[in-house]
Amino acid sequence: MSNVKKEEIIDVLDGYDNDEITIATLGSHTALHILNGAKEEGFKTAVVCEKGRETPYRRFNVADEYILVDKFSDIVNLDIQEKLKSLNCVVIPHGSFVAYAGLDEIENDFMVPMYGNRSILRWEAERGLERKLLVGEDIRIPKKYDDSKDIDRSVMVKFPGARGGRGYFVASSSDEFNRKINDMKSRGWIEDEDVEQAHIEEYVAGCNYCIHYFYSPLNDEVELMGMDSRYESSIDGIVRIPSKDQLDMDLGPSYIITGNHPVVMRESLLTKVFDIGDKLVKSANKLVAPGLNGPFCMQTLVNDDLEIIVFEISARIDGGTNSFMNGSSYSYLKYGSGMSMGRRIALEIKTAIKMMELHKIIT
Ligand code: ADP
Repeated sequence: MSNVKKEEIIDVLDGYDNDEITIATLGSHTALHILNGAKEEGFKTAVVCEKGRETPYRRFNVADEYILVDKFSDIVNLDIQEKLKSLNCVVIPHGSFVAYAGLDEIENDFMVPMYGNRSILRWEAERGLERKLLVGEDIRIPKKYDDSKDIDRSVMVKFPGARGGRGYFVASSSDEFNRKINDMKSRGWIEDEDVEQAHIEEYVAGCNYCIHYFYSPLNDEVELMGMDSRYESSIDGIVRIPSKDQLDMDLGPSYIITGNHPVVMRESLLTKVFDIGDKLVKSANKLVAPGLNGPFCMQTLVNDDLEIIVFEISARIDGGTNSFMNGSSYSYLKYGSGMSMGRRIALEIKTAIKMMELHKIIT
């Protein structure tokens, strides 16, 4: 639960000049199209960036203000917060913002108006909460195993924390599970306490689609903005090695995202795509008001029964939106050319200002 009260944020917002709103974010993740999209919609922009990391923002000229800090986490420092407020900033949270600012700080200390629902960020970060959001509305997720003894098919074993899939492994029996766990312990990759927290779920042999949605509470509609699939190291490198050579190489795959491909799904699946998007919005509304407000993403695998199985969600803009900075096939259908997720956010803020409803979409 967030200790930053909505009323306190509204007070800050009341002190803003609505004609001079600046869209700000941390210089990483999806900052390029967030800021570029904001400019396209006529906003001023600011980027808070670690010294030495500002090159892309300067080269692509997306920011009017550069607030350089020693380390990204300084964005929560009081002087930086004051600076952001003095520029009438609305901050757009993204994955790196959450990681560097920290959930506790966002919930308790960061007094700058943020776009979206700051309370929901914890729900995507903690597996138990994330699960609750999904199962409440019967969204298909990988079957979970509470005990390794019950393993009756191929499973994927995950460990807590944002490890980018490092150390995740696949097993098909409890013997194989135990052998791999012992092997990883002896290599010093995991500790006993990690083993206790190992999360075991059905391995889905399917194709990866990360579906990017936008929910606007202003017109109560879930929009499909684009899709990407992940390009992950080392797994996507390993699959280029012929299987007979793989066997000799003793490779443990990791799933570190290095980039994203744009992708489209077969059209007959789009009814389901909208259905699960609507369901997640409904579930979030019930569990963590004001729910999903703005961009969100469902990371899915589609199996050969054409089920869409959701293995993870982002309750804010997801990094895969970088695959459609100039719009996607889907955003084209709704908006014509050039609608990135960043620009869609700016359009929402612009509309809210016009309707005198900015307070509705910030926390
Ligand atoms: P993290 O967020 O810690 O990087 P994820 O849960 O996103 O970990 O998983 C990393 C990668 O592992 C995914 O992008 C996907 O390729 C693969 N993956 C995750 N869950 C499953 C699953 N149940 N079945 C098959 N592959 C999976």
